[in-house]
Amino acid sequence: MRVLFLDIDGVLNRTGYHPGESFGLRSWIEPELALRLCEVLRVIKAEIVVSSDWRRGRELGLLRSELLAAGIDAAVIDVTPEIHGPRWREIEAWMNEHDRSLEQIAIIDDFHDMGSLASRFVRVSPLNGLDQDAARALMALFDA
Ligand SMILES: [Mg+2]
Repeated sequence: MRVLFLDIDGVLNRTGYHPGESFGLRSWIEPELALRLCEVLRVIKAEIVVSSDWRRGRELGLLRSELLAAGIDAAVIDVTPEIHGPRWREIEAWMNEHDRSLEQIAIIDDFHDMGSLASRFVRVSPLNGLDQDAARALMALFDA
C-alpha cells in the first residue's frame, strides 16, 4: 500500500489561520485543505502516516479521531518514530522498519529539506498550504 507522510502545520493550515475556537488538532485544520487532501488520497490510493510534530505526545487513536473530525476520512495507519535528527530521517526509519521503497511513498511538508527522500517530496508554501499545484504534484509522483 502507498503511504503519504503527512505534515500538518503549513500543509493543512496556512500562515495566519486562526480558528474561532481552539479545541485540539481538529480546529487547526482548514476544511478546504482537508477536502483537497481527501481527493488526492483517493486518486493516489495512499494511506496516511503522520510525520507532523502534532504526533508528539499523542496516541495514534487520538490523531485518527481528530483528523476524522476535521473531515479526513482516509486511513491513518501510523506515525513516524521520534528520533534524533531531521524529519526525513524519521520518515526513512519508518520506511526501513516497514519495508517500503521510494516508489511507494510521498511526502508533503512545508519544510525545505528531505535529504535522500527529495525525489518523493512535495514542498508546499505555508502561505498556500496544500493547494492545487501541490495536489497535482502528488498525483504526478504516482502517475495518477
Ligand atoms: Mg509544517
